[in-house]
Amino acid sequence: MQVESQKVVILNYTLTDNDGNVIDQSTDSSFAYLHGASNIIPGLENALHGKKVGDEMNVSVSPQEGYGERDDSKTQRVPKEMFPEDAEIEPGMQFHAQGPNGETIVVSVASVEDDTVTVDGNHPLAGVHLNFAVEIVEVREASQEEIEHGHVHGPGGHHHD
Ligand code: ZN
Repeated sequence: MQVESQKVVILNYTLTDNDGNVIDQSTDSSFAYLHGASNIIPGLENALHGKKVGDEMNVSVSPQEGYGERDDSKTQRVPKEMFPEDAEIEPGMQFHAQGPNGETIVVSVASVEDDTVTVDGNHPLAGVHLNFAVEIVEVREASQEEIEHGHVHGPGGHHHD
């Protein structure tokens, strides 16, 4: 069975940056996604299309096909008093904030000065070149419910109460 739209794909993968640092890894066949539903970044999804079980490959994904380029306008300095008084604000911390269109975004603390905190609304992997070493473990038909929900159920997927 080939990887194509409306198939559930189980992958083992190791993700490294261009310096060889491991960013993320799943090697126990526990990662599953629904192909064609934008569950994973476009560069990886496109590279997997048409492949089959047992195929192994290295996929190099540019930021444009990954988490986007860094956008310096998403960095801003805010007064420290906007944070809870008892909060220990440290670089690298992440928290949820409201974006310009009311959507929830994840921002991280870039640096802390005396009275100001510099926050960064870029995805932590924005601007990063991603290198995936991938093995296709299993390909199966998606259920009608999975197709309707746009994600995988069961092992490696969503569990609904
Ligand atoms: Zn669901």
